[in-house]
Amino acid sequence: MSCAHDRLGLRSPTTTHPPPGRRGHSSGLIVSRETWRYGDPSVSSSADDDRSTPLARELADLNRRKQALSREPLPAPAKTRVITVSNQKGGVGKTTTTVNLSAALARSGARVLVIDLDPQGNASTALGVEHRAETPSVYDVVVNDGAVADVVQKSPEFDTLFCIPATIHLAGAEIELVSLVAREQRLSRALSEYLAETEKAGERYDYVFIDCPPSLGLLTINAFVAASEVLIPIQCEYYALEGLSQLLRNIQLIEKHLNPQLKVSSILLTMYDGRTNLAQQVVADVREHFPDEALNTLIPRSVRISEAPGYGQTVISYDTNSPGSISYLEAAAELARRGAPQ
Ligand code: ATP
Ligand code: MG
Repeated sequence: MSCAHDRLGLRSPTTTHPPPGRRGHSSGLIVSRETWRYGDPSVSSSADDDRSTPLARELADLNRRKQALSREPLPAPAKTRVITVSNQKGGVGKTTTTVNLSAALARSGARVLVIDLDPQGNASTALGVEHRAETPSVYDVVVNDGAVADVVQKSPEFDTLFCIPATIHLAGAEIELVSLVAREQRLSRALSEYLAETEKAGERYDYVFIDCPPSLGLLTINAFVAASEVLIPIQCEYYALEGLSQLLRNIQLIEKHLNPQLKVSSILLTMYDGRTNLAQQVVADVREHFPDEALNTLIPRSVRISEAPGYGQTVISYDTNSPGSISYLEAAAELARRGAPQ
């Protein structure tokens, strides 16, 4: 993380970038006006495919990517990976990324727990779990010393997908936490205890994802202390990198004082629209600053992704074969194959 931070001579996202319409980039990214392909560009297509129309090309491309995904099962991590999804900027795709990566990994058979640490409760909604005010929730864990086992719910999405919901009570937690003992470690302690119990019972989780609110308050600090990895979603829009240095500084402080294991393991570019120069510029800038952390997969801007939560679903179950779903499946595969940072 610290090298990423040192490298961050942040500039406006409108600086170095390939000219529009040019095919390819030194990082291997395939973005151009004539070939709008998202997902993992390392999966290349054969030149002799019959692709007479844009729609035929799109379908052939999706099929090829689907086949590539089903070729090899995903490796299970040697120990539970606890990943905090954070960016204090609002609306960049934190929740969408949390629930869809979780669903994608659960679909592959991994046992996954999502902790909704945002009073908005959007992750709980997307995973179809109860989160009315009276529902036992993450609030009971971080403020009232409740046990995680008492608040976990199974998501109807997949058999191996679980969620600790957030209710409206969490909105007051930032203030209530201030006067509590070990205010920064409350989630970490409760989670460690629960993970040890489940492991002992032969029900070890492979992944825990923590969805953070758009702020750098005590809830987010609790998430950083409980995790060993941070995944930062970055929206492919203007001002994308603004505020990133503050986020990285905070993570560095947590690493130094509260959680030496914490690393920024992944950066995921979201809401990518390859028809705009701006999106291409953001991708180029992020890859230049974070060559190791940036995932190859780009998440496209997609109506299906934004519709899914309205049905209490992730896009993985709502429209499995849509480009948005396939991109999240690819991002999940990349995350699993890269493994935890050493
Ligand atoms: P907050 O900071 O409020 O917690 P967030 O960072 O969690 O927001 P999301 O809630 O995931 O962001 O996304 C913000 C909005 O953008 C939502 O309406 C979501 O449905 C939509 N959205 C996210 N990703 C995509 C995408 N790839 N394509 C289209 N819409 C998207
Ligand atoms: Mg959110």
